[in-house]
Amino acid sequence: MIDFNKPAYLGKEIDYIKDAIENSKLCGDGIFTKKCSQWMKDELKTKHCLLTTSCTHALEMSAYLADIQPGDEVIMPSYTFVSTADAFVLRGAKIVFVDIRPDTMNIDETKIEDAVTEKTKAIVPVHYAGVACEMDTIMGIAKKYDLKVVEDAAQGVHAYYKGKALGTIGDFGCFSFHETKNYTMGEGGAILFQDDKYLEKAEILREKGTDRSKFFRGQIDKYTWVDFGSSYLPSELNAAYLYAQLENADAIDKKRMYVWNFYHEKLEELADRGLIERPVVPDYAVHNAHMYYIKVKDLDVRTRLIAHLKENGVCAVFHYIPLHSATAGRKFGRFHGEDVYTTKESERLIRLPMFYSLSKEEMQKVVDAIYSFPDFK
Ligand SMILES: *Cc1c(COP(=O)(O)O)cnc(C)c1O
Repeated sequence: MIDFNKPAYLGKEIDYIKDAIENSKLCGDGIFTKKCSQWMKDELKTKHCLLTTSCTHALEMSAYLADIQPGDEVIMPSYTFVSTADAFVLRGAKIVFVDIRPDTMNIDETKIEDAVTEKTKAIVPVHYAGVACEMDTIMGIAKKYDLKVVEDAAQGVHAYYKGKALGTIGDFGCFSFHETKNYTMGEGGAILFQDDKYLEKAEILREKGTDRSKFFRGQIDKYTWVDFGSSYLPSELNAAYLYAQLENADAIDKKRMYVWNFYHEKLEELADRGLIERPVVPDYAVHNAHMYYIKVKDLDVRTRLIAHLKENGVCAVFHYIPLHSATAGRKFGRFHGEDVYTTKESERLIRLPMFYSLSKEEMQKVVDAIYSFPDFK
């Protein structure tokens, strides 16, 4: 069976974990955590970057730093992972879902403004599959109505919008290093922001409500409880694994791009025959080959194709039952406007195996299995 995902392992991870053990520093904010943040600062040109225990936690930090209060409204797509909404629900926000664009599966930027009310506090664009949302329009709306923008760039690490790294455009950017993402540390993430004014509050929030970060820098001689906080810093063991991946980001990117292009070329014929649709990458976006998906006619074809692939040794999956249709989504949110594409497009989508160690034979086997589907004959 060809797996859907396998976390990347390049070889150095184990050496770095060993280094962390030998340094006798396993808790957070040690050498490897610093190396990881530095990589993001240099490579992605972000002013600030704090490693976190997950993207979910980076989103929670953003919701807090954006000063979301009970009753505030937050605009986001319904076609996304639960954490995008959960982080804001935890602060008492009401989620306002708007429709997606059928080409990129990203929030439809032309439908956001109509959803803005006096209570709106933030917009949360999700860069699906590492393909950028139309950020100029989104930032323009945010400016006009004085809203915060929190980019859910969980899938968008090392992907770009008009030359700017995803996660560095809005007020806050949130990354994931979960094992299903391009670069991993098992579980982990990062919060990015450009404005110095958030730094102190972010550090305190991440360090149990204490000013311990200042203490470690020698700026104060003892640390105390100064504000609301939690514990959002990952272990050095995880950071050591991640650093080996970031150091080799180019190798990971290159391989994933190869897989992505392989599928894209091999499946062109089915697209030309109108049997499937392939991902669309707008001119303004440079993607990171996070995901390869195809869209088939409808839910029925998808269900049968996934079963057919399974019979042929290929694990393909779908995801995101639109949040507005879920129990919690109905309780905590509402859909603004008409659901033209969210449900319809999400029911047609299938994700193909995509990971660093996928072999060419396996890739070909996936393609062959798709072509042998009776509907495509
Ligand atoms: C993976 C993912 C998350 C959650 O990331 P964790 O690091 O597992 O918390 C959030 N949003 C999106 C869009 C994701 O793909």
